[in-house]
Amino acid sequence: MLQAAGSDGIRLTMESALTARDRVGVQDFVLLENFTSEAAFIENLRKRFKENLIYTYIGSVLVSVNPYKDLEIYSKQHMERYRGVSFYEVSPHLYAIADNSYRSLRIERKDQCILISGESGAGKTEATKKILQYYAVTCPASDQVETVKDRLLQSNPVLEAFGNAKTLRNDNSSRFGKYMDVQFDYKGAPVGGHILNYLLEKSRVVHQNHGERNFHIFYQLLEGGEDDLLRRLGLEKNPQQYHYLVKGQCARVSSISDKNDWKVVRRALSVINFNDNEVEDLLSIVASVLHLGNVQFAADEQGNAQVTTENQIKYLARLLGVEGSVLREALIHKTIIAKGEELVSPLNLEQAAYARDALAKAVYGRTFSWLVNKINKSLAYKEAECPGWRSATVLGLLDIYGFEVFQHNSFEQFCINYCNEKLQQLFIELTLKSEQEEYESEGIAWEPVQYFNNKIICDLVEEKFKGIISILDEECLRPGDATDMTFLEKLEETVKNHPHFLTHKLADQKTRKSLGREEFRLLHYAGEVTYSVTGFLDKNNDLLFRNLKETMCNSENPIINHCFERTELTDKKRPETAATQFKNSLSKLMEILMSKEPSYIRCIKPNDAKQAGRFDEVLIRHQVKYLGLMENLRVRRAGFAYRRKYEIFLQRYKSLCSETWPMWEGRPHDGVAVLVKHLGYKQEEYKMGRTKIFIRFPKTLFATEDALEI
Ligand code: ATP
Ligand code: MG
Repeated sequence: MLQAAGSDGIRLTMESALTARDRVGVQDFVLLENFTSEAAFIENLRKRFKENLIYTYIGSVLVSVNPYKDLEIYSKQHMERYRGVSFYEVSPHLYAIADNSYRSLRIERKDQCILISGESGAGKTEATKKILQYYAVTCPASDQVETVKDRLLQSNPVLEAFGNAKTLRNDNSSRFGKYMDVQFDYKGAPVGGHILNYLLEKSRVVHQNHGERNFHIFYQLLEGGEDDLLRRLGLEKNPQQYHYLVKGQCARVSSISDKNDWKVVRRALSVINFNDNEVEDLLSIVASVLHLGNVQFAADEQGNAQVTTENQIKYLARLLGVEGSVLREALIHKTIIAKGEELVSPLNLEQAAYARDALAKAVYGRTFSWLVNKINKSLAYKEAECPGWRSATVLGLLDIYGFEVFQHNSFEQFCINYCNEKLQQLFIELTLKSEQEEYESEGIAWEPVQYFNNKIICDLVEEKFKGIISILDEECLRPGDATDMTFLEKLEETVKNHPHFLTHKLADQKTRKSLGREEFRLLHYAGEVTYSVTGFLDKNNDLLFRNLKETMCNSENPIINHCFERTELTDKKRPETAATQFKNSLSKLMEILMSKEPSYIRCIKPNDAKQAGRFDEVLIRHQVKYLGLMENLRVRRAGFAYRRKYEIFLQRYKSLCSETWPMWEGRPHDGVAVLVKHLGYKQEEYKMGRTKIFIRFPKTLFATEDALEI
């Protein structure tokens, strides 16, 4: 992070640039008198929110409250206002964070990342998009770079069409985690990008809760698709015709225009290099999922499932490029290889429906990953397009699910909350620890801040052999009678004395009442969450019957063919379970982020009604807690807000003291000592380190800056 004030010729003109309205409350929580009081914290947020001031800092962390209305603060003029300007010179904004990271990247040539967190509907994806737009507008341009910028921006509507859905919490909720790298050349122009995706919520393909929808693309296709396209895909316009679209009973959403979005997505697909054939192949898959959902079964005399919807099979065969009869048989039989021999057994009604849904989820989930890959190919830096790109610097944007606590928490919440534990670990490693290390290396005496190190919880989840994921995998692999409940029993045996783990059996009399027999509770860094183990084994296994896999391997749809590789059938090794895959991808993500300099944006959702102007205190207090903002502030206040090399500090402020002006002949350290004494700095306001002066509060520095102005 670039030092905020006084460095590199950046002028602080705070008093003049900010209007009175900008300064409602405090724009940096560090300046709060009563900084340990949560009530004061929330009151400051509220005051500012009422004035449409949705951004406030905690030091260099940006807190953002979703306004749920269009504020006139994202124009080109606003972007220009933040370009190349110091943090405290202008009012808090995500452009300031974006610009600051960009400048560090340019000046210090250090890779950056901006981590955006917050619960569903808090504004993470909007923030990510606004940051990308900021770079697209303010970074140097050329024709080639314009193409790259366009592709970076256009990847969003496509990913959102396939990966976002209307939920009760957010009409455009991202149902996957996303990390996007933007690569810059030595001139600071964006020349490429790369996206990593995490844990798409595949279960939504086959089931939606009341008031929720399937992924946007289904409705966009039905609503916007041209007649002859729909005819080719065998689709009717009405979403009510499709079982996979009727469960949530809300195909239409007032805030969404599927028809317009369809046009946007079609255009975006061509910008990111999809040709007509590829678009047709992709949409064939989308359509095939809808047809799959309409495949019905009836039981014969033996109770075995038979397909009763021949029409659907016909369309599926055409769209997926498979033999209809093979697909039909694969949907109602199961093949197992035992001792080298293939055993085929019929499925009953329930099993056949399960197999059908598993196929729909697998097809959609894998196509999503293929889509990300395809986008990555189009974003990849190409020498021919941007010649002269030598040393890459990279800026990463992480838009990932925040901590989730629902009435009913399952495998998905377990994974998501584990992810947040890892991000908290990263925050500790990158921010708290490094802060303390700097004080040590500078020989600054200070009281180490007590903070909770959540490594113990990460270990509980991910440790080899003893961790929850290991035990879950073990049960998934165990042939025979493994069930969700045997998994819970194993957990109880293995981690029974862990301070962050509890079950009905392990709890004392009083707590026991709040825990069901099929639940376990984790004491996360952000609070307790109770998980029901129901479905854990199934979701972790994520099984697709062998014969369905085989059918897909033979598909003539190039995308499907690419997504289902033959080696899966011949490979003796069991595929990784969902939790282990997630664990491994998170561990890679942590490595990537660890090598970068982080900035943080913490997003807050002001109310559950998605309404402008409503500030629901209870809800906000909850998020302030889960985002760890009070601890953040405590650490920030305990430390020193600013540090500056003696040489630079002296150079900037030497004119304020006759002894140091125009030239100080001695050591810069001594010069600074004379200078701050002259300025009347109080002992508790600063410390002198080996190479730098440390100033505790921003206001001390502001006062000195003001003195320069006079
Ligand atoms: P999820 O975790 O569900 O994906 P999210 O944090 O990504 O949620 P967004 O989709 O970014 O949430 O925001 C939800 C909605 O809130 C947006 O569709 C938009 O209507 C509104 N919104 C968010 N940020 C802003 C903003 N800065 N200005 C105006 N409206 C906003
Ligand atoms: Mg989102």
